[in-house]
Parts: sequence; C-alpha cells; structure tokens
Amino acid sequence: MEHVRERIARAAERVGRAPDEVRVLAATKGRSVAEILEAIRAGIDLIGENTVQEALAKFEFLPEALEKHMIGTLQLNKVKVAVRLFHGVESVNSLELARAIDREVAKLRRAEPYPVLVEVNPAGEATKRGLPPEAVEPLMEELSRLERVRVEGLMAMVPYDDPQRLRPHFRLMRELFDSLGREARRRGWKNVEMRWLSMGTSNDFEVAVEEGANLVRLGTVLFGPRKG
Ligand SMILES: *Cc1c(COP(=O)(O)O)cnc(C)c1O
Repeated sequence: MEHVRERIARAAERVGRAPDEVRVLAATKGRSVAEILEAIRAGIDLIGENTVQEALAKFEFLPEALEKHMIGTLQLNKVKVAVRLFHGVESVNSLELARAIDREVAKLRRAEPYPVLVEVNPAGEATKRGLPPEAVEPLMEELSRLERVRVEGLMAMVPYDDPQRLRPHFRLMRELFDSLGREARRRGWKNVEMRWLSMGTSNDFEVAVEEGANLVRLGTVLFGPRKG
C-alpha cells in the first residue's frame, strides 16, 4: 500500500497535482474477508465489489465504517439489495437503472440522495460496458431530474493495453468530466456535482492520475494476481 501511494504521489507530482487528491479504491472481487481486513489495516478505507452476490457473502464481516461501492454491472433486479449494501454505485449506464435506484432509495427514507457515477466507455469497445461519450450529457440531463440520486462524477473502464496508448482515452474522460461540470453549473442541474473521476486500474493508474483521475480502482497491485 505504501508503495502504491508513492507511485500515485509521483504521478500526481509530475503534473503538478496534490497527491492527496487521489483516492484509492481497493477492487476486492475474488478476495477473502481476511485479505480485505488486512488491506484495511494497511490504510484502505474504500472498497469496490463487482457483484451483489459476493458483497452479500462478505460485507457482514467487514466494518460498517468501510465505504463500499458497486463497480460491476448492476442488474435491475438486484438494485433493491444493492442500495442497502453499497454506499454508492459507480456503474450507472442507463436511465432505467438510475430510476430503479431512485425508487429503491425512496423506500429507505434517507435524507441524502444516493451517490452514483456514470460509467463511460471512452475506447468504444463493443465488449466493454459503459456509455459512449456522446451519450453521457443527454443521460446526465435526465438524471438531474431524479430526486434521490446524485451524480457525483464519471467512471471509466478501458481495455488492457500499453498505458501510454490509453492516455488519449483518459484525456477524453477528463475533458468530458470538466465540460459536464461546467454544463451542470450553467444549466443549474440539481443533484449533479462532478467530484469524482474514477479511472485507472493496476495496469494504468499512473497514466490515469497524470490525466486527472482522482479515484483509482486497484486490485492486483494491492492483493497480487487473481486466482482463476
Ligand atoms: C477488477 C476491477 C478493477 C481492478 O483491476 P486490477 O487490474 O486488478 O487492478 C478495477 N475496476 C473494475 C470495474 C474491476 O472490475
């Protein structure tokens, strides 16, 4: 963890950013409760899971205070459980999904709207989830009308590749993030507050940080190679 923080700090400093702007999310799919508790001792305070099923099996053994995000594809029929398990969903990619979250959050009688990120696919791969960049603003406008959902930024998944070749995708994400922030202010969108740009995994987080990520999602670099 120290080593990872140091690599983030060096990447941030190369572009004149403050290292402590960058938050680390530990991607814990396939990791045991013991491994996660160990990561918490090393300083992790935010984790991400890819399925509701795995979250259900593990979260009861993890501290309440640990922040937990959904980072995998969320099925509509799992939303009810997801909003109770997770503090936020990073993988919102349709109005239908956001509406389902809005409906379930209404039943929770919480005062605060539920934080989500919109998932974008900047590389345009057919196999990856997420919205094409040009579809983000129209969706965002629709989302701004939901009472109980607050859009707090964007999440990007990029292909596995030489990180330098991924740089244009990260740059495009940053431009989209900034322009949506301006648009949200200009048009007075309620419940849109562009705070988090979630991009960068073990393979490419340094380039992602250089291009403006302030939330990186790390698995293998924290826990070692995944089994299976
Ligand atoms: C697994 C995963 C990560 C982390 O990937 P690593 O290569 O293990 O760092 C990040 N984001 C998502 C959505 C993931 O599923």
